[in-house]
Amino acid sequence: MEGDQSELKVFISGGESTCESCLEKLGSQAWIFLAGKRSALCLNCADLDHLLFLPSGNGTLTRRAKKYSTLNAVVLKWSNARKHYERQGILVEEEAVGQAEADYLRMRN
Ligand SMILES: [Zn+2]
Repeated sequence: MEGDQSELKVFISGGESTCESCLEKLGSQAWIFLAGKRSALCLNCADLDHLLFLPSGNGTLTRRAKKYSTLNAVVLKWSNARKHYERQGILVEEEAVGQAEADYLRMRN
């Protein structure tokens, strides 16, 4: 997996999750942030809820958006078939996505 150790990670949970901070039941397929070993936080409590999801697929766009965003997190989902976490995309600031898209269009023209 690319990226350094300090990269924030958001997991799309396979089972039922509960936020340890606000105690909200997040249901299955919840997006959770793992703070420390066992505590799962909802994105709201992790202060990540303002970020926009940018799906994987466009490497250029992803790299640019990451560069522009002061805060970003990788989104990982457990694959039962492959038995490992798969990268779904990243969470970045909305403006960063806008800037990255503008760059991308400029490059293509
Ligand atoms: Zn919460």
